[in-house]
Amino acid sequence: MKPLNADMHCHSTVSDGLLAPADLVRRAQGNGVELLALTDHDELGGLAEARATADEVALRFIDGVEISISWGDDQTVHIVALGIDPANTALVEGLHKVRSGRDARAGRMAAELDKVGIHGAYEGALRHAGNPALVSRSHFARYIVEQGHVKDVKSVFDYWLAKGKPGYVEHSWATLEEALGWIVGAGGTAVIAHPGRYRLSKTERHELFAAFKDLGGRGIEVLSGSHKDDEVREYSRIAREFGFLASRGSDFHGPGESWIDLGKMPDLPEDLTPVWSQWL
Ligand code: AMP
Ligand code: MN
Ligand code: MN
Ligand code: MN
Repeated sequence: MKPLNADMHCHSTVSDGLLAPADLVRRAQGNGVELLALTDHDELGGLAEARATADEVALRFIDGVEISISWGDDQTVHIVALGIDPANTALVEGLHKVRSGRDARAGRMAAELDKVGIHGAYEGALRHAGNPALVSRSHFARYIVEQGHVKDVKSVFDYWLAKGKPGYVEHSWATLEEALGWIVGAGGTAVIAHPGRYRLSKTERHELFAAFKDLGGRGIEVLSGSHKDDEVREYSRIAREFGFLASRGSDFHGPGESWIDLGKMPDLPEDLTPVWSQWL
């Protein structure tokens, strides 16, 4: 049987994506996606529009969200929640709390950037984000590119915004326990997002996966827009070792700004169980 073209990870203008939820859904369908999850950062506000458009164009749709958590010694890890009930009170309130720190963090980032010659970054990033509770490093990056400091968003991260760079400030997101509690309580399936992107030792990585599993976490992104071939092999192995469901997500943010486009990924290794098999 031909594998399903599922894309379980992407962003709209409701977080740091460039397309409105409806446009994102139309683009996914145009790209041949057969099952789509919208997973904005810490925010459920795009799901209703995305689902309505998906119904219109007959694309199967899963409600999702990507939750920012802090792990260990100031590591940010992302947990993708799939199939959650967007009306679940504990989830809604929990995400509200996660978002509430973004504005103050943006102010601290702008103060650090100002010291290295990038001025007006708070106002600039806010203009891109539209909402102080949603300001992300992506919005800072777009402002800094617009100001002509460097040519693209990726370079902004390399020079100023990645951990250890002058515009990076520490921040406490949710804990792993909180995020898993909200996801499981809202009937969702928790998936570790883009495991290849965390700067963790092999031991730390295993600790994260084990703690995640203990708390009810069930899946891992084997295929991600940011994974290289050796990472796909590594996280396929981890999925087998821990008995995780396998996910496939582009992490698309917008045309010209993402590793790959919606739905444009290889198939999962055949022996792995896709996280979406429960919804078919
Ligand atoms: P924040 O949640 O504010 O820390 O912003 C994190 C977002 O920045 C991620 O969701 C990505 O969209 C983006 N991002 C992180 N690292 C990079 C990178 N190296 N290149 C481009 N975008 C990045
Ligand atoms: Mn993002
Ligand atoms: Mn992420
Ligand atoms: Mn993402």
